[in-house]
Amino acid sequence: MSFIDRSARALLLTELASGLWLTLRYAFRKKVTINYPYEKGPLSPRFRGEHALRRYPGGEERCIACKLCEAICPAQAITIEAEPRADGSRRTTRYDIDMVKCIYCGYCQEACPVDAIVQGPNYEFATETREELLYNKNKLLDNGDRWETEIAANLAADAPYR
Ligand code: SF4
Ligand code: SF4
Repeated sequence: MSFIDRSARALLLTELASGLWLTLRYAFRKKVTINYPYEKGPLSPRFRGEHALRRYPGGEERCIACKLCEAICPAQAITIEAEPRADGSRRTTRYDIDMVKCIYCGYCQEACPVDAIVQGPNYEFATETREELLYNKNKLLDNGDRWETEIAANLAADAPYR
């Protein structure tokens, strides 16, 4: 661009005018931003968020302590201990996930034969300390109780592709 062109643009404020025109055009278009956290965008049913342990509708834990999730976890984030109950059923006595180690790969969910451990839709679980991200069985079952409706809907939506 020649010196005269640059001087003319500077004197006539053409760049300012074109910038204002661009702003004006976009001011009346549909907004692409949302007012998070009051508004949230759509999530895929396959979204891999915070983990949860699910129960059957009667309240019994789904997990049968097969330890497939623990075995497949590439980050070795899952620790399970189990022992048989009086009725002969096998249940976990300890189910921990170190959420700091977890890489959210979803393998635990894929490996589970009874859809017990799942990654739910919650992504708002930031903490102030590392200790708060060491989840135990109670925390995971609480997550399952809290998010069961959404988790069940997501699993149903994803069922044809599994
Ligand atoms: S999502 Fe992956 S890394 Fe995290 S606990 Fe499950 S298997 Fe392990
Ligand atoms: S969560 Fe599923 S895969 Fe893991 S021990 Fe329980 S039943 Fe087995």
